[in-house]
Amino acid sequence: MPEELNPFKIAQKQLDIAAKIMNLDPSAHTILRNPLRTLEVSIPVKMDDGSTKVFTGFRVQYNDARGPTKGGIRFHPAETIDTVKALAAWMTWKCAVVGIPYGGSKGGVICDPHTLSIDELERLSRGYIRAIAQFIGPEKDIPAPDVYTNPQIMAWMMDEFSRIKQYNVPGVITGKPVIVGGSEGRWNATAMGTLYAIQEATRKLGINLKGARAVVQGYGNAGAFAATLLKGAGAKIIAVSDSKGGIVSERGFDPHAALSQKEKTGSVIGLHETEKITNEDLLELECDILVPCAIENVITEKNADRVKTKIIAEAANGPTTPGADKILHKKGVFVIPDFLCNSGGVTVSYFEWVQNVTGYYWSSEEVYDKLNKIMVGAFNDVYDAHKREDVDMRTAAYIVAVKKVADAMKTRGWY
Ligand code: GLU
Repeated sequence: MPEELNPFKIAQKQLDIAAKIMNLDPSAHTILRNPLRTLEVSIPVKMDDGSTKVFTGFRVQYNDARGPTKGGIRFHPAETIDTVKALAAWMTWKCAVVGIPYGGSKGGVICDPHTLSIDELERLSRGYIRAIAQFIGPEKDIPAPDVYTNPQIMAWMMDEFSRIKQYNVPGVITGKPVIVGGSEGRWNATAMGTLYAIQEATRKLGINLKGARAVVQGYGNAGAFAATLLKGAGAKIIAVSDSKGGIVSERGFDPHAALSQKEKTGSVIGLHETEKITNEDLLELECDILVPCAIENVITEKNADRVKTKIIAEAANGPTTPGADKILHKKGVFVIPDFLCNSGGVTVSYFEWVQNVTGYYWSSEEVYDKLNKIMVGAFNDVYDAHKREDVDMRTAAYIVAVKKVADAMKTRGWY
């Protein structure tokens, strides 16, 4: 991986930029440039054919000054320790920017879940939890879903942890199915939070969301829900894509139909009355709102100049490189940075954890109402810093988040 695309180097660089502007204490800066704890585990899994395969997994606990660490688990063939470190750093800033009482962490297992049977997937999920069990817990570190993991996997993981402890521990993991202690509204919370952030951004920029042209890259949990919610709010979905490629139609189309197409054929490609487009070209379509919902490094120095949108709403983690950020800022593209834009997921994870530890459960109306208040508040904190410091929205989000973590470390006596 070229140095400028190494996610952890990018995360450190973003921090360095903000640290300079906010005059961050050098001791706080040094602590925050690296994770507090990095764990690598080997997970032996009995495969259906009788063989045993050993998978490598990671868990990175980046910083816990503001509370127990929190962050999802990715099952991805291209997982690396540096990606997990970066994602754990971003979780730290994410929880801080929305003000929920957690630090940040992330987990990953190098695997391609699409090639595993359901039984192998369950054994791998349980094996990963056995390998990291002594490092996690409702007051220590709380995992959740991320790329290629889902509520069923969270249920197996919670069950495995509860078996080890010999009592029910629903608060050890969030993003569970509702039947085993999940929260109403959790599964589409990332997209809902993204919608709330986009609504605030369009208000500030004087763009009418009704009729706005939206492009969504990535059609997993975040992408498919984001497209649906945006359409519900009056936007016109003119293009969407998945890992195999995308579809475009200037007249707009129904995101549900795109999802059915993907469920039937494995890709959105081929939806009637749409044309095929590559993921690269999709990012360069003229539109009002571009929503990257897949993985890191899709908007780089190579294509940033050709991006023709007013708003980029980063539902994915790390879709834009620092080089691209500079170009976009110069062009006047308004970026809602990842750890603000996609913080709805972890915010409702927090609600789930609160419900688990108190044993008192909320309605979806309560969840969305509380989520909206938090997203609007965090957006405005960042927007105010963006205006006050005359910096782009990402740097502003860093300034807001890093200050909270640095203050917590200072108060605890870490420097
Ligand atoms: N994986 C999601 C994220 O990157 C959610 C994390 C969580 O709920 O803990 O924000």
